[in-house]
Amino acid sequence: MDEPILELKDICYSYHSLKGETPALSHISFRVKKGEFLVIAGPSGCGKSTLLSMIAGLLAPEEGEILFPQGKPQLGYMLQHDHLFEWRSIYQNVILGLEINRQMTQAKLEQATRLLKDYGLYRFKDKKPSELSGGMKQRAALIRTLVLEPDILLLDEPFSALDYQTRLSVSSDICKIIRSTGKTAVLITHDLSEAISLADRIIVLSRRPANVRCDMPIRLTLADDSPLAARNAPEFAGYFNQLWKEISDEKH
Ligand code: ADP
Ligand code: MG
Repeated sequence: MDEPILELKDICYSYHSLKGETPALSHISFRVKKGEFLVIAGPSGCGKSTLLSMIAGLLAPEEGEILFPQGKPQLGYMLQHDHLFEWRSIYQNVILGLEINRQMTQAKLEQATRLLKDYGLYRFKDKKPSELSGGMKQRAALIRTLVLEPDILLLDEPFSALDYQTRLSVSSDICKIIRSTGKTAVLITHDLSEAISLADRIIVLSRRPANVRCDMPIRLTLADDSPLAARNAPEFAGYFNQLWKEISDEKH
């Protein structure tokens, strides 16, 4: 029963250009369970986006395999920048994926409206993206991804364009939304604190070419549901020190 929804087996990948070869991923293997919130952390330029593009099927591994043992899931991909279109209203942006995928059914459109209401954006549905705050835009981008009903959400540093304070509340907000839907998520970040505060499990990648340095389950005792709750959890500092040590011990 405990079959993973996603399995990476010994993935290797190099970029080839006229200047030569850039090895990006080296023998990466891990499994993700259904409903798990996995965070992949690692230094800038180590190969995180390459890995996520590969899971999304945008790049093919040179060696190794990516398997979906429970059948090919619907994948939702959300990037660092919200990529909302300024000439479309928030509502039109949210239903863009439905339009492109020819899924503009009554039920899906109602679902889009329900998500806008649930996540506090309904009042802003006729506004242009520039009229919304960074956090609201990120929420709109998430709704656009969620209306396509993905089984796995792939999020590539979705908060890194936000200022620090906004980032704390938006990341905790978006994490709650994703958890409430019970979806499987793979989120990428270069920020260890963010990783600990959001994850059920963290995989830390080494410097390029990336391989798995450590794979650690995270269990926090949360005092309340504020954006800072995870960072104030008694276990937080211990995890941080452990992960920091893993990264700093790296030989290069
Ligand atoms: P991260 O997301 O961890 O910052 P990336 O996966 O974007 O890292 O990139 C990993 C490495 O591969 C980097 O050194 C980057 O310069 C290189 N790289 C990324 N994309 C390309 C490309 N299209 N061609 C050549 N090298 C690339
Ligand atoms: Mg990246």
